[in-house]
Amino acid sequence: MVEQHELSVLLDDALDKGKLEMHYQPKVSNTGKCIGLEALARWNCPIIGYISPAVFIPIAEEHGMINRLTDFVIQTVCQQISNWENDGVIIVPVAINISFVDFKPKKFISKLVQNLIEFNVKPEQIEIEITETSFATNEEYLSLINSLQSLGFIISIDDFGVGYSNLSRIADYPIDKLKIDRSLISQLTTSERKKALVQTIHDLCETLNIKCIAEGVETQEQVTVMSDMGCKEFQGFYFSKPLSSQQYIKYIDNADVSTHNTNIKSN
Ligand code: C2E
Ligand code: MG
Ligand code: MG
Repeated sequence: MVEQHELSVLLDDALDKGKLEMHYQPKVSNTGKCIGLEALARWNCPIIGYISPAVFIPIAEEHGMINRLTDFVIQTVCQQISNWENDGVIIVPVAINISFVDFKPKKFISKLVQNLIEFNVKPEQIEIEITETSFATNEEYLSLINSLQSLGFIISIDDFGVGYSNLSRIADYPIDKLKIDRSLISQLTTSERKKALVQTIHDLCETLNIKCIAEGVETQEQVTVMSDMGCKEFQGFYFSKPLSSQQYIKYIDNADVSTHNTNIKSN
């Protein structure tokens, strides 16, 4: 068992040396078209091996490294969009996850804008994923979300339905998308009550003109239930795992996305 402290020292070193990587998980429409990507951090530690972001993000948050990590993600994603663009690869909006631990809104926006300019990326090519809990518990983020949206970034609420939500916030905030959490999607075919809850969330989004996406879709049954509800956007292993940049190029070039035959294996 590796200790937290040891992991934090290794992570600090990996961040210094730019040894983290980004992988990209496709988001697809009901017609099978890739409509976006989610950038997910990957750390293959040379000493310990693969370490999940579910493990190292909290370590980065607890040990004062999360802002360096977010800066790394912003720069890598903007550079990646620019490289794909130069190589003629189809570009779709790329979502970045942000942590609100030790978060400095002004620095975050200026880092984003600085990288957009440096890599010639447009704000509408970047989506910002904010978890439901952080969005629901911090009044001060209303002005951040307003600023980001007026600059042209796409705003998504992540992991919706399991955090501490205050439904009225959804109506108050200028949100473009809402991602229904995987834990609800996984119970769609086993719990009528959870299915009713998901239907309600979906219908509320439709009324408020917010796009709704089902996260963590793993089976055809889940796709069918969500499609019957009217859901038009999906993300999950059923369509594709997160892909390296090279795997994404192959995916977007070759995959017959409409038959969902896109299960390229990666971390
Ligand atoms: P998230 O933002 O909700 O990301 C989705 C997670 O669900 C990813 O795990 C993805 O690989 C996984 N996933 C997607 N489809 C399926 C599916 O069909 N089945 C199952 N079982 N899992 C699926 P990952 O990459 O391990 O990331 C976990 C969490 O770590 C993310 O949850 C996000 O909160 C955080 N994270 C990852 N990368 C970053 C980052 O760059 N910055 C920040 N702040 N957080 C990150
Ligand atoms: Mg996310
Ligand atoms: Mg999520």
